[in-house]
Amino acid sequence: MSLSFRVGRLFGIPIRVHLLFLVLVGFLVASAPPGTEIDAVAYLGILFGSVLLHELGHALVARRFGAVIHDVALWPLGGLARMSGMPQRPWPELAVALAGPTMNLGLLLIALLLGVLPDAKGALGREGALASLASVNAALALFNLIPAFPMDGGRALRAILSARFDYLRATETAVRIGRICVVAATSAAVFGPLPFWPIAILGLFLWIQGSIELAQVRAQFGADPISEFFRQAFGSRVVEEALRQQEAPPPPKPKPEEDLGSELENYRGTLDEFFREKRKPS
Ligand SMILES: [Zn+2]
Repeated sequence: MSLSFRVGRLFGIPIRVHLLFLVLVGFLVASAPPGTEIDAVAYLGILFGSVLLHELGHALVARRFGAVIHDVALWPLGGLARMSGMPQRPWPELAVALAGPTMNLGLLLIALLLGVLPDAKGALGREGALASLASVNAALALFNLIPAFPMDGGRALRAILSARFDYLRATETAVRIGRICVVAATSAAVFGPLPFWPIAILGLFLWIQGSIELAQVRAQFGADPISEFFRQAFGSRVVEEALRQQEAPPPPKPKPEEDLGSELENYRGTLDEFFREKRKPS
């Protein structure tokens, strides 16, 4: 991630902070009413500390399932755990998606427990800190569970759908539901009684990120946009039937080396599978 720098390491995972995140924090502290700057810093510390632990929740559970965690970063729209090699199986994906909100629910529980313990109240200083910890984490857990793919709720939805349907169809459905959430939330935020533009910016980001991930899954499944259009318009069976009819007359055998390109073009699978099949002795 450009414009970001490493600030430390937690559980062996590098923690990075984006320059724009620092600009945002600086702006928020500077715009706090005079005399409340310390409170603003404390509140932002609780907020972004909770966001960081939320992301670490995702990262630590993903690592248990064999994913490689590159880093956890704080940036203006929240936190981001960058990872690769996450298995595309329903239950690991569901566990990783829910790990972040579960971390927030854990922090909420801690805040509530400390709040009712009479001794701990004094030891921890201001009750306001515990109230902030509780409200921030309740809000983070609920907000992240909105099924707006690629938010956690959307990822959990895809995981549940992929237990029933194939991964491509599960992703398409989750992205479509996510877009409905984005349009609804953005319309409410922009045209509502109290316009709140950050939701529109987040909505735009979610829409773009969801589209990118959908394109990646489509490419992985060898689903090109044109056949996807017909598949979505007429249902998969009609298109499969049409393809089968097209395939009926066997094409003349091409010379092996000159038609590798067109063979690859017509191949319905990943690049790896294509070359694995090519390598097989016939
Ligand atoms: Zn999350």
